[in-house]
Amino acid sequence: MSDLEAAKQLARTKVEEQERLLREISHGLAARPELAMEEEYAHLFLTGVLERKGFDLVRHAYDLPTAFAASAGQGRRHIVLCAEYDALPDIGHACGHNIIGAAAIGAALALQPLLDLLDCRLTVLGTPAEEAVGGKVLMVEQGAFDGVDAALMVHPAPHDMLIAPMLALQGRVIRVTGKSGHASTMHTRKGNALDGIVEIYRLLAYRSYGPYERCHGVITQGGTVPNVIPDTTSALYYLRARVKDDLALFSEQIEREVTSLLSELGCTVKFEDEGELYREMKANKTLAGLYRSNLEARGREFVPEIFVGPESAASTDMGNVSQVVPSIHPMIGIDSGPYMNHQRGFADAAVSPEGDKAVIDGAIGMAWCVIDLLLREGVLDAVQQEFLLADAIGTLPKE
Ligand SMILES: [Zn+2]
Ligand SMILES: [Zn+2]
Repeated sequence: MSDLEAAKQLARTKVEEQERLLREISHGLAARPELAMEEEYAHLFLTGVLERKGFDLVRHAYDLPTAFAASAGQGRRHIVLCAEYDALPDIGHACGHNIIGAAAIGAALALQPLLDLLDCRLTVLGTPAEEAVGGKVLMVEQGAFDGVDAALMVHPAPHDMLIAPMLALQGRVIRVTGKSGHASTMHTRKGNALDGIVEIYRLLAYRSYGPYERCHGVITQGGTVPNVIPDTTSALYYLRARVKDDLALFSEQIEREVTSLLSELGCTVKFEDEGELYREMKANKTLAGLYRSNLEARGREFVPEIFVGPESAASTDMGNVSQVVPSIHPMIGIDSGPYMNHQRGFADAAVSPEGDKAVIDGAIGMAWCVIDLLLREGVLDAVQQEFLLADAIGTLPKE
């Protein structure tokens, strides 16, 4: 048996030996969903597991209370596995980040005994607040990925998708100011801030957009009681576009349209950023190719590339990581029936037997991918060369 085969077999055995622990991690996170930057239980739980397994821990890493860095190995090459663990308001782990956290730890335990052979230092980065704020954006800025050769994670989805399109995203708060008054006696007067925010919602919901442009929001402040016309209202919007520069232009255009609409209604409007700018994902195709063949060897089938269009586009703070190191963010299928990410039923699927299988396959798949990357001659060079050359290209084609 070759070194490569023996290493992969050992990695698989290590994951299979830890199956129970990995299920406990995935289900434990799912049972206690925590919102962005409040993932105290997840932080305590995952750092505890990694410390017991012999990893060197930095808790509350990079000035973020719920981030961590867990490292092992002294090798010259440095690989990062990203563990997410934040949930969504009201619908819990409906994005399945419990699977992401568990799979990252599974892959780390699989690779741990191989680090000398791979000449590798391995770090599990606990990256909080993917669904809001953008923990990885702040961690990139703090240097968490400096000197890293590649970063990997898997994200659950209804189907296995090797490279899902990931758009640049910026949260924007829109604040409308008008004149308060008695709703019964002044209802025909201009300057009703509730009218203003409702008209903004209508404008942005029914306006047409380019294939990669998205603008969707919720009204966060719409008044308190029916008999008082509110003088201020607000909404939180997410704006997305193919790449960062397109997003800046799109954002300006939306601002112009909203401002002109509001001046007709006798209100004023202000815009401000909420959370960090999520960059478009520059997926490393060479690294993704390794992941694909290893997951196919586990019997998984990927959605054919021709069926992956702009309609399946979302965003992730892994996009910012992908701008500084070769990265992959493949979607791992959990057979969620009629449900997709951000639907309540998806949270149930994320702790189903299929969800548990995704943890195991994701862990083994990432570990095998790292073994191919570091043990096979010339592969790391090819990955890094692609990263440098693809700088101006990005992942998504222009339409
Ligand atoms: Zn999500
Ligand atoms: Zn997610």
